[in-house]
Amino acid sequence: MSCEACALRRELICRDLRGERRLFVLSQVPFFLLSFFGMGAVGVATGVWWPIFAYSAAGMAFLGPGEMALLCRHCPHYARVGPRLRCIGPNPFPKLFSPRLQPMSGLEKGFLLLFIASLLLFPIAVQAYGACFFFAEGWEWGLLGMALAALGTAVAALHLLRVLTRHFCLRCVNFSCPLNRVQDDVVERYLEMNPAMGAAWKEGGS
Ligand code: SF4
Ligand code: SF4
Repeated sequence: MSCEACALRRELICRDLRGERRLFVLSQVPFFLLSFFGMGAVGVATGVWWPIFAYSAAGMAFLGPGEMALLCRHCPHYARVGPRLRCIGPNPFPKLFSPRLQPMSGLEKGFLLLFIASLLLFPIAVQAYGACFFFAEGWEWGLLGMALAALGTAVAALHLLRVLTRHFCLRCVNFSCPLNRVQDDVVERYLEMNPAMGAAWKEGGS
């Protein structure tokens, strides 16, 4: 069946959609810009640089191989032919693991949620440390700037979560992700149309 004639085409992000990928990338820009700006300012003021380097390294590891191993290899986009992922989330790494269309395990879901929470909260914690430093040094303007940066980063994190859960998770085909919100009847119709994934889900007991 062609996608044009498919009843699920508006319900799911089940194919390579450039517009969705652009929106997915753009929705992350404010959070990461504010995060790095704030952590950089903390580094300049305090001389403590390890948080920004640790965050960059852990972020690369998570958004590259980590996310691939925990989340993406359960996704039908990952099972498509080719050495690289073609979906809403551009990944700089080639596919490093074999696909596993069975649903994610409880452990994988737990690690994924932990990583997401750390990715969102760590920059805010670093900026809060910076605000405490300015307070202790009596630098009022520095304290105000850092408090605003931390607030802006927190608002950007909430906005990112809102875009993810209200726009993407409602239509994402990685159904076992703990953030996925696709309706059960749509999941069933998709699994009927994708026999490989339907069989893997039966095998996985879902
Ligand atoms: S379910 Fe398959 S056929 Fe239907 S729109 Fe998605 S990719 Fe195309
Ligand atoms: S889970 Fe998301 S980022 Fe990973 S392959 Fe599927 S659509 Fe792409």
